[in-house]
Amino acid sequence: MTSIEDLVLASSNEGKLLEFQGLLAPYGLRLRSQRELGIEAPAEPHPSFLENALTKARAASRRTGGAALADDSGICVDLLNDQPGVLSARWAELHGGPHQDDANNKLVNQQLNGRSSSAYFICVLVLLRWPDDPVPLVAEGRWHGRWLSEARGEAGFGYDPHFLPDGQLLTAAEMPMAHKNSMSHRALAINRLIKQMLDLGLIATHESAGN
Ligand code: IMP
Repeated sequence: MTSIEDLVLASSNEGKLLEFQGLLAPYGLRLRSQRELGIEAPAEPHPSFLENALTKARAASRRTGGAALADDSGICVDLLNDQPGVLSARWAELHGGPHQDDANNKLVNQQLNGRSSSAYFICVLVLLRWPDDPVPLVAEGRWHGRWLSEARGEAGFGYDPHFLPDGQLLTAAEMPMAHKNSMSHRALAINRLIKQMLDLGLIATHESAGN
């Protein structure tokens, strides 16, 4: 199979770009953001992470004609029947509030009435080799833990201050970024995707990848 050297990331999030660039660079993959290429993000109207990730990857791939990687992620809270889910980024806004992490966290706390709940972060990645690729690669990562009503920590973003990962003493916002990035839903998903790409010969093992 022809290897991939250039990839557009169908996201405008700089943090994600840096994280994915760092993880993919050892395999000789150059990752560029869609913002850098002047590509507008499409709407994400679907009920599932997979459909939204595929929509984003396809839109970016159509614009470049080449390979595109997209991710869709969010938090699913058990006592809220897996909500906010795909609506995580806009949860408060969809309920008449502002588009802000603080407002999202406050709303989930209100909906839980101060209760704690098991919860997980999920990341679904889709890789298209070209716009009409008949076999998109899909990789998923879930990070299980608990929703805490009390916010703890200043690092990270989004729902991190309320998320205590299973087996950890620190919330996702209390742990150093490198620690979060070694075990998060995104780390799990990207490592699974890299394995599939290696298996298919889309990328080759580099010495610097530590393999
Ligand atoms: P998107 O996939 O970029 O649309 O992001 C989805 C939303 O899920 C983010 O805006 C956050 O609210 C939430 N989210 C996804 N990953 C994380 C994480 O690692 N920590 C905290 N919140 C997250």
